[in-house]
Amino acid sequence: MEEFGKRGSNANLKEDLGLKNLGNVYWNMSPAELVEDTILLGEGILTDSGAVAINTGKFTGRSPEDRFIVFDDTTKDAVWWGKINKKFDSDKFDALYNRIKAYLVGKDVYARDAYACADDNYRTNIRVITDLPWSNMFAYNMFLRPTDEEIENFTPEWHIVAATNFLADPEIDGTRQENFAIIDFTRKMIIIGGTKYTGEIKKGIFSVLNFVLPHERNVLSMHCSANVGKDGDTALFFGLSGTGKTTLSSDPDRRLIGDDEHGWDENGSVFNFEGGCYAKTIDLSAEKEPQIYEAIKFGAILENIGFVDGTSTPDYSDGSITQNTRVSYPIYHIDNIMEPSVGRNPRNIFFLTADAFGVLPPISKLTKEQAMYHFISGYTAKVAGTEDGITEPQTVFSACFGAPFLPLHPAKYAELLGNKIESENVNVWLINTGWSGGEYDVGSRISLKYTRAMITAALTGELDNIEFVTDDIFNLAMPTACPNVPTEVLNPRNTWEDKAAYDRKASHLAQQFVKNFETFAQGTSAEILAAAPKVLV
Ligand code: ATP
Ligand code: MN
Repeated sequence: MEEFGKRGSNANLKEDLGLKNLGNVYWNMSPAELVEDTILLGEGILTDSGAVAINTGKFTGRSPEDRFIVFDDTTKDAVWWGKINKKFDSDKFDALYNRIKAYLVGKDVYARDAYACADDNYRTNIRVITDLPWSNMFAYNMFLRPTDEEIENFTPEWHIVAATNFLADPEIDGTRQENFAIIDFTRKMIIIGGTKYTGEIKKGIFSVLNFVLPHERNVLSMHCSANVGKDGDTALFFGLSGTGKTTLSSDPDRRLIGDDEHGWDENGSVFNFEGGCYAKTIDLSAEKEPQIYEAIKFGAILENIGFVDGTSTPDYSDGSITQNTRVSYPIYHIDNIMEPSVGRNPRNIFFLTADAFGVLPPISKLTKEQAMYHFISGYTAKVAGTEDGITEPQTVFSACFGAPFLPLHPAKYAELLGNKIESENVNVWLINTGWSGGEYDVGSRISLKYTRAMITAALTGELDNIEFVTDDIFNLAMPTACPNVPTEVLNPRNTWEDKAAYDRKASHLAQQFVKNFETFAQGTSAEILAAAPKVLV
């Protein structure tokens, strides 16, 4: 066992993690060294933009059903157990980790010291051990990067061991199948195996912070992007996957705080958990998303993309491996960023939803009660193409716009957000980045240009003096005009040729909202319940 690279003076994989008789250990390698190893190992190729392109193999997305949390004294009364937060035995964790240790004997590993939380009050040191150079580089891109001096004296609080090539045996290990991601809040460890999908590493730490920060520090943790305007006003963009957090937070007129995970504390600090972005690249173009396009250069990692035949030029329209093609890059690949990645109490919050039924208005202003109702509902739609077997659009309700990553009961996050919206008097907007002019197969996705114009108008106060009208079903207040947006798209009913069909579809969606909310009705105030849509009969 030989060790290379920048290793801190106290770092000891044998003492800290029980990892013995490994092959070589590569500590805190630079992106250039990791790209070189990726290519030498036949794991990736260099594209003509300078980014390295890799394939994540069998898994091209997270596997929520294989995500477990160790059930023990730390978690048993605090975690909201169920289909999302699945229990794993502490003894089984030990046994499985022992098998991982045995598996890693003689194998080369990459070790990285990193941290989460850009606000020093919440800084969380993480040591990541991976069996692949590019998953280690992903950790470099996505987490915050310590200086050389900080590495010298680094003390990890959390450890992630990602043995991506280790396959579990459900009979022996108690997993569901051969892949797994298991969080142990007592040992402060995440173990990942059987999947090379990098998002498991990032969302593992997100889940950790979604437990620790609200539970122990009274900080609201959020699945949202954030940016800051010229006069220092912060905006947050909540939304489920594919609704536009990353796309809409990249704005040449506003500095980026982060594209996916943030905390908001009692003193008004809004801070990024991460040090990088993880953008979708399907149909990416330089015209529509210039900042993301330009960020794809040396240091970026492209996942599961296709190429223009016979070249090393990415073809972003190629979804033949997956619709979920991605790129990760350190946040400094974007020109206008906040440094450090911290803002203040937001003035505006946007809830993004991609409504495939084309019935929600492209922009509406929510009352405080509606804001709580929609936050707890967490509605979006999944359309055909992204997952096998989905031909019709499907409604998705994911509490707090991030249920898969939330170990606590949604009420905890909702209560923290509700108090902040109240005390800071924040404007809350619902933005439909989905369909208009009919549902999925008839209408079309609202143009990104219009969505951007609506958000700009909300942020600059241009909507303040405009008259709003309210629709009959969702009771949402829609502006009657908006700069740089054709007036007729502002009210979705106007964009449908068949008004009766609109009413039917809208009522149908309203029904699903109501049904979904049944789980949360108990323990929710009458005012918030009154913000439910009305089902017309
Ligand atoms: P994740 O949580 O998975 O990172 P996300 O919320 O960050 O998801 P984006 O990566 O921003 O989602 O994806 C939004 C996708 O939808 C992009 O590919 C974008 O080009 C496309 N899109 C099309 N029309 C719009 C629109 N009107 N507003 C926002 N995005 C749009
Ligand atoms: Mn994103």
